Amino acid sequence: MNIGIIGLGLIGGSLGLDFRAQGYKVLGVSRQPSTCDIAVQKGVVDESSINLELLATADLIFICTPIHLIVPTLEKLTPYLKTEAIVTDVGSVKGAIVDNCSQLWPNFVGSHPMAGKTEQGINAAQSGLFVNTPYLITPLESTPNCAVEILTEIVRKLGCKIYYSSPEEHDRAVAWISHLPVMISTSLIQACGKEQDPNIRQLAENLASSGFRDTSRVGAGNPELGLMMAKYNRQALLISLKNYRQNLDQIIDYIAGETWQELEEILISSHQYRANFLQSK
Ligand code: NAP
Repeated sequence: MNIGIIGLGLIGGSLGLDFRAQGYKVLGVSRQPSTCDIAVQKGVVDESSINLELLATADLIFICTPIHLIVPTLEKLTPYLKTEAIVTDVGSVKGAIVDNCSQLWPNFVGSHPMAGKTEQGINAAQSGLFVNTPYLITPLESTPNCAVEILTEIVRKLGCKIYYSSPEEHDRAVAWISHLPVMISTSLIQACGKEQDPNIRQLAENLASSGFRDTSRVGAGNPELGLMMAKYNRQALLISLKNYRQNLDQIIDYIAGETWQELEEILISSHQYRANFLQSK
């Protein structure tokens, strides 16, 4: 089987490294010729090009471009595809992508590897990025079963844990655990940076350690990706943000009113509830 990858950045490049290690022939297309050259040098792909025509012999293609380019890329790709080729994408939102892509190519199956890191681009690609991470597949009722089965079989080899949902369920769930944390984390960094007293701000910067590193990490990721999450998952993200604001207001009220018992109760329940999100990972 030949695997095609479009967009040789963090996710596309990391997929290429792992699929080549599994013995698949990997064909890569990216925007910049220099990225294509690096991808071959780093062993991410067997062959690379800036032309989608390279993918005429691909059986399964992963579109790993920024979110807003996924649908336009598939539009340009379809004239070159084999009739039985399966196409998937790795976009961090699904509703806006899967409906459009499924109309362009019946053998399209949306998916989302839930792995990443702060760096981006081909030089951030790393093998084993997806091991023990969730990989969500989001078929529609019209999606052919055999396409879902083949995609499942291939991505299982990355060592990830596979889940299935509708695109809409995906978008609501990731609004809570991925897109909301990005917005909270970025507002944390902004708020700290707005401390008026320069001496206090400098002291805070000097003292920042593991707690700040953990809570600010996702707010310092790829800015383009954060913007796309907000634009393409706007409704679900707004619901999550408004719920979060209510919780924050409640905490402010408890502290302002010195209602320590109520505050302690939510701190205890958070301590216990966090484990539900992190168990078995
Ligand atoms: P990235 O590192 O910036 O990689 C995207 C790559 O796409 C760029 O390196 C760029 O390569 C290439 N590209 C841009 N325009 C293109 C075009 N018109 N045709 C072909 N290639 C093009 O970003 P990423 O983090 O891998 O994210 C890519 C996708 O993965 C996004 O849809 C995102 O939602 C999804 N995702 C990201 C994460 C994460 O945490 N980062 C996690 C899961 C899913 P050039 O160097 O050639 O310009």
